[in-house]
Amino acid sequence: MTDFTPPAPPRVVIVGGGLAGLATAVSLVGLDLDITLIESRPRLGGRASSFPDPSTGELVDNCQHVSMTCCTNLTDFCRRVGTANLFRRDPVLRFLSPEGKLSEMKPSPLPAPFHLAGSFLGANYLTLFERLRVAFGLACLRFATKPTLEPFAQWLKRHGQTDRTIERYWGTVLISALNERLENLDISHARKVFFDGFLRNRYGYQMELPLVPLGELYGSRLETWLQSRGVKLRMTTGAKSVELGADGTVTGLTLRNGERLDAEFVVLAVPFDRVASMLPEGAIAQLPSLEHLDEFRSSPITGVHLWFDRDICPWPHVVTVGRLVQWVFNHTELQGRRATGETGQYLQIVISASYDLLSKDNASIKDAVLKDLAEIWPAVNEANLVHWRVVTEHGATFAVRPGIDAIRPPQRTPIDGLILAGDWTDTGWPATMEGAVRSGYKAAEAILADVDRAEVLIKPDLPETRLARLLLGPPLP
Ligand SMILES: Cc1cc2nc3c(=O)[nH]c(=O)nc-3n(C[C@H](O)[C@H](O)[C@H](O)COP(=O)(O)OP(=O)(O)OC[C@H]3O[C@@H](n4cnc5c(N)ncnc54)[C@H](O)[C@@H]3O)c2cc1C
Repeated sequence: MTDFTPPAPPRVVIVGGGLAGLATAVSLVGLDLDITLIESRPRLGGRASSFPDPSTGELVDNCQHVSMTCCTNLTDFCRRVGTANLFRRDPVLRFLSPEGKLSEMKPSPLPAPFHLAGSFLGANYLTLFERLRVAFGLACLRFATKPTLEPFAQWLKRHGQTDRTIERYWGTVLISALNERLENLDISHARKVFFDGFLRNRYGYQMELPLVPLGELYGSRLETWLQSRGVKLRMTTGAKSVELGADGTVTGLTLRNGERLDAEFVVLAVPFDRVASMLPEGAIAQLPSLEHLDEFRSSPITGVHLWFDRDICPWPHVVTVGRLVQWVFNHTELQGRRATGETGQYLQIVISASYDLLSKDNASIKDAVLKDLAEIWPAVNEANLVHWRVVTEHGATFAVRPGIDAIRPPQRTPIDGLILAGDWTDTGWPATMEGAVRSGYKAAEAILADVDRAEVLIKPDLPETRLARLLLGPPLP
């Protein structure tokens, strides 16, 4: 009898422990692959993570992260790793007008796409005539199906929208959802938010809010899950460059400490501005899909964390229309976290596309936010601010500028063994956790196809009603 040594499993090195890299790793475990994940920071989660507050030791999210029920792949990812129960689904979206009037968006028994029509008609931050104007704009958006370089703000003006409807309706929804100003926004992404997010399925718009800090949700829990399934995690380890053999295929990865890891596959699951420096000289010339990498831009988000000694916000979350403050999340109600022991309230304020704040210092941002909140809730003037922290992420997301989808690269590259992932790669989704997970699943699909175990990992969208398909047309590719 001769000894039989089974062939060594193919080696996969994933660079980047954000949701894209995590989704790649999670979907490849148990498939007889030798997986190593390299992350330069001491924690997993990438941009969806928390840090220990230096003065209190409490875990503070870099910023509130919200997903919607239409994010079917993020949901699938959380189910796979056993964290799907760590979210609260909220069917009610609250909007507070600059005049202090509350409107609630919630579904009526009407079928999609009319399930939110009743709430929309009751939206008291717009006049009746403005609501009809917005409805006309939404109807016109149905026919905006061709790729174009026209910014969405210009399109809105051409379709009868006024400064007030743009500020109070279109801007309120889209700046938070897409993290870009409307003057710089791609129309197809705006269309995607309204049609695919809110209208095709009656549950798609519902918000999913984490019940635990992001550092636990996408950090410590994932660390344990992956390690217990044999994935080698190398934290606080920077990747330097992908190695190619004489035949031009991937042979491994060199780390910043000089160590070399041999691998048949390297997945670069890093932000767009890190990719070029990790490719060997001359490789970029073989990658026409990366020709436009230098045209990508980033867009900032500012999160303001405020710990008050008393209750300020009566709701779990609220969208504040026409203000500096765009969204208030009540972490005392959502996660049971308080300012001091049993009392007080911890609010997280989110300001997306916060370009105007980039030149301001944190104390002025905090003061401006407090002033804005005091106009909504005068109790802010009497309250004691126990603690505060401002976190501005300059490169929070890639900017969904007009024409962006034409330059997003696919995950598979023409270099054998080199795969890309990351929210910025071609997923059809804006810069979101769903986009990142989709890119990770697509990266894993490319690897599985190469080892002759092709599998579809991407989950389908929520089903749409026939009426929605008829009235909204098919989703854009
Ligand atoms: C403030 C803020 C608020 C947001 N809010 C939302 C929201 O409400 N909803 C939503 O869906 N999305 C939101 N996003 C976007 C979401 O966080 C991202 O789309 C998603 O997390 C991106 O995941 P990723 O894996 O593509 O990239 P990243 O999370 O950036 O992961 C890349 C990883 O690569 C690592 N890395 C880079 N270079 C190297 C190297 N040389 N060696 C090793 N590791 C390296 C980085 O440290 C990082 O961990 C928000 C983002 C920010 C910043």
